[in-house]
Amino acid sequence: MRQIAFYGKGGIGKSTTQQNVAAALAKMGRKIMVVGCDPKADCTRLLLHGKRQATVLDTLREVGPENIKLDKIMSEGFAGIKCVESGGPEPGVGCGGRGVITAIQTLQDLGAYNGDLDYVFYDVLGDVVCGGFAMPIREGYAREIYIVVSGEYMALYAANNICRGIRKFASRGYARLGGIICNSRMVENERELVEEFARRLNTKMIHFIPRDKDVQRAEINKKTVIDWNPEVNQAKEYLELARKIEENQDFTIPTPITIDELEELMKEYGVED
Ligand code: ADP
Ligand code: MG
Repeated sequence: MRQIAFYGKGGIGKSTTQQNVAAALAKMGRKIMVVGCDPKADCTRLLLHGKRQATVLDTLREVGPENIKLDKIMSEGFAGIKCVESGGPEPGVGCGGRGVITAIQTLQDLGAYNGDLDYVFYDVLGDVVCGGFAMPIREGYAREIYIVVSGEYMALYAANNICRGIRKFASRGYARLGGIICNSRMVENERELVEEFARRLNTKMIHFIPRDKDVQRAEINKKTVIDWNPEVNQAKEYLELARKIEENQDFTIPTPITIDELEELMKEYGVED
């Protein structure tokens, strides 16, 4: 069983990418569980065709820890993918990361991590790498990490911070970086910038995903692109990324850069004045 976490800034395309990769692997016959670790609880929406999965935190609050059952917090989506959403605290109360810890512990207690699974994916909000959001790395669950970025400063800033988190836990855990996924925002020199950024972080850009309206077309049908129309180019991109992840052997401890270096990099590859 391979346990893989996708991190990245909010809105960068983690859930879109992650659900399409999971859908692609499921079509290849793999058995998969997706654990959404974003308080937004929309990480499995496309796999579940719009059905809202009751979150682990809400269910715990409702029925109490003694009465919680796996079928209350897990539904099967596209191609048999098992879907879970950790959920979050009520706004203004408690810490979002806490939900991730509770969700994973609950899944563990209920025997969700069984030998049948080929992959467990965690879709984790990476704007803040607080204790809770680092949990899948820190506690030895996710051993492979992919960071989703674009060529925009804030996305790279967040990715660099996530790398600092991975590095911090590298000595006592097994979590390693498998690569950077560039989800294009059509920024100038984006591919070159992200390739160089990845190189400086001691990793590689594993795939460049084009920006494509078919993502929105699939989304209004509440489906991944793989599910909606496997023939379109964007579906092929996600299949290619899924294949690269499946075959990846190249895992590293990242070397985060300084803010000055990041700013220099942006200047070097950015729009000319
Ligand atoms: P995150 O999970 O990181 O918060 P999402 O996966 O929800 O981000 O993506 C935010 C929005 O960006 C999605 O609703 C989707 O429509 C759009 N999007 C993501 N990737 C692409 C892409 N490659 N091409 C076009 N639109 C995209
Ligand atoms: Mg998301």
